[in-house]
Amino acid sequence: MSSALCPPAPEITVTFTTLSTMTRKTLALALSLSLLTSSESCPLDSTNPLQSPKPASTSPPQTCQKSQLRLSTPTTGFTPWTHRPTCTTVSPKGDELCVFTDATYFSGRGLSIVARPEVVDKFLQEGIFPGRQNRPNAKEKGDVKYQILPHPKMGTGLFVKPGKSYQAGEVILTDYPTLILPAEGFEGADADVLHEIMWQGLLQLPKEGRNATRNLAKSKEANGVDEIVDLVDTNAFTHEEGGGIFNVLYPLASRMNHACVPNAITRTNGTTLALEVIALAPIPSGAQIFNSYLDPSSFSSSAERAHALRATWSFSCGCDICSGKGVSASDARRREIKKTRAQLENSKGNPEEILRWSKALLTLMGEEGMVIPRGEYFELAAMASRYLGLNGEAKGWAKKAKKHWDVVLGEASEQSKAMGELERAL
Ligand SMILES: [Zn+2]
Repeated sequence: MSSALCPPAPEITVTFTTLSTMTRKTLALALSLSLLTSSESCPLDSTNPLQSPKPASTSPPQTCQKSQLRLSTPTTGFTPWTHRPTCTTVSPKGDELCVFTDATYFSGRGLSIVARPEVVDKFLQEGIFPGRQNRPNAKEKGDVKYQILPHPKMGTGLFVKPGKSYQAGEVILTDYPTLILPAEGFEGADADVLHEIMWQGLLQLPKEGRNATRNLAKSKEANGVDEIVDLVDTNAFTHEEGGGIFNVLYPLASRMNHACVPNAITRTNGTTLALEVIALAPIPSGAQIFNSYLDPSSFSSSAERAHALRATWSFSCGCDICSGKGVSASDARRREIKKTRAQLENSKGNPEEILRWSKALLTLMGEEGMVIPRGEYFELAAMASRYLGLNGEAKGWAKKAKKHWDVVLGEASEQSKAMGELERAL
């Protein structure tokens, strides 16, 4: 929506946006994954302690193709890459994918990118991967207040250390990718060829990065899905950059478990591809840090969420609005939110109506514990009340809008600056 500071036009256009630029765990993986689903499995690194053998009843035929993989070895002359980039034509139309590896990235954890070469050229031209001297250093962690712990029902999770806490808007951690893979489809591509290229990217990583990536959760092992497809399907964040769409694996951030009303959000830096995990609300000592694998702006019902989570991540959500007595109240509230949004959309620019329904939505979302979708309604309430000459009320809404964007998008965001200016102008 517009955050312009000029007086609103007599008719306020109401548009609904989700925070589509924020990366989030991929819900519907792009076409490439439908191409990549395979019953083949290739246990290429038997040193992985978590790579347990599958039960005989579900174990697919082993068709390990390690001998066919053309792994590059470390060499010089390809700065910033530490390995000779190798390229493969993956489709009858001539689409080409190349593997680029920098084994020094993030203090030796490494990074491999599988992408069209022109996309990676664009990355480098635009400085998206800064020179080695500016590369992120894993040792510079500062005051780490989180820890990864086992959980009886959720495998492992990210928790606040005892005696520590986070404020709303605080950066909990910053993670960097180990593997960037294409999330676009290539018409007529051979799934085996695509598999091999992705495996090459993974196996060219140094041991630390390889193990950190392969030790991530896999939700489809029992179905015989190829390990690398499973890793992407279960853990990848989607990101658009340089004309490409990617599935990006962040070994630390991917440890976060899901809650339908999350207490954290992720934000990607478009230049460094660093992924920040931000507290959405105060998170106390010992609490688990959750993000939402689903669109946190969606008002889907418990049944719809259960279906989506089961289909993609193979688990049932046990959060407060998915199990126990909170379910029916939450579902009813979400139906009410949808109804109220329809009333707001039908308000035809009438400022009284816009103010009324925006306030109603903010109350309902507050009761539901939803943070993310509230920003645009704070802004609408500010603009509508200003138009009605209710400057005191408008100032209050602008202040809340700014505080919201400070947390969700950061103080440097355009939205935050615009609401700060509006607040000062009133
Ligand atoms: Zn849930």
